[in-house]
Amino acid sequence: MLSRRKTRIVNVGKVLIGSDYPIPVQSMTNTLTEDAESTLRQVKQLEAAGADIVRISVPNTEAAAAFAKIVKQASVPLISDIHYDYKMALLTADAGAGCLRINPGNIGSAKGVKEVVKAAKANHCSIRIGVNGGSLERGLLEKYGEPCAEAMVESALTQARLLEDLDFQNIKISVKASDTLMTIQAYEQLAQQSDYPLHLGVTEAGGLMDGTIKSAMAFGYLLYKGIGDTIRVSLTADPVEEVKAGQKILKAFKLLDKGINIVSCPTCSRRSIDVIGLVETLEKKYENEQRNITLAVMGCPVNRLEAIRADFGVYGLDKNNHTCKLCVKGVEVAILKQEEVLERFDSLFNENLEFVSK
Ligand code: SF4
Repeated sequence: MLSRRKTRIVNVGKVLIGSDYPIPVQSMTNTLTEDAESTLRQVKQLEAAGADIVRISVPNTEAAAAFAKIVKQASVPLISDIHYDYKMALLTADAGAGCLRINPGNIGSAKGVKEVVKAAKANHCSIRIGVNGGSLERGLLEKYGEPCAEAMVESALTQARLLEDLDFQNIKISVKASDTLMTIQAYEQLAQQSDYPLHLGVTEAGGLMDGTIKSAMAFGYLLYKGIGDTIRVSLTADPVEEVKAGQKILKAFKLLDKGINIVSCPTCSRRSIDVIGLVETLEKKYENEQRNITLAVMGCPVNRLEAIRADFGVYGLDKNNHTCKLCVKGVEVAILKQEEVLERFDSLFNENLEFVSK
């Protein structure tokens, strides 16, 4: 198990965040918040995919009114995302937000921040100081010449001190950039200068593949160093994909003990079963499975140990009749035809087997 940098503990509603707790996966709705029905539907989709926390942008009073309706029906804590108008933070804190995300670059006057802190205290919600490389304060841009890790860290720490001066420490921080290396540098520097929990993200990271790869590289480096207490994979895509990508990143480091882990070979001419087709079907079929189960699909016996080590695994046996060996928790139990594999996996999923984290 990877060790974590020791942090303070903060709460987002009922979810505790910090080094003593599992790393929650976050996502953000991309519906019009004012359309409460569509936004709630998307929140429910994110919950079904396994999101631990959902963020919703609140740009105006109509959106704040919709947030108040949505928060009553959400099962996971909601974060209100505030830019420019601190009064939206006040409205959503009163409505039941678990956390208020504010951007130091555009939240405005100290008076506004003071009001936000007062509302957060009164409603027991945390504040995320969300610094983005693309929206740094003008003074920092003049000082550093361009967005850079040092400027983002200075922005975050200045804002944290402002909140501390108001006797508020229920804080988590993010320092996101669209540049993967700058993001890593900013989080590394911040981790050395602060013990607040850190929300990891690469911002404006691109579409499904670009965004997932950039996030996985940044998070992989940082999590391996013990840095990171909650994550969001920002994608220009269906936000459900953000949840799936976040869970897969955590699972790859054994930092998440729920969901399906598929171990499969890339296939080659030795294969005796349709590995690609089978894996695509398994991914789709079990995408919302929350139990911690490892499935393995190997095209031939060369890597049969992977199938044996999985909770359920198959490896190809005979190229002529497309058969494979089924393995269940370390035991080779049957020879199946390729077309029988899905049905057997299905019945194994329905048996009350105990699953353990590998
Ligand atoms: Fe090829 Fe077998 Fe390796 Fe799959 S497990 S890539 S079929 S050698």
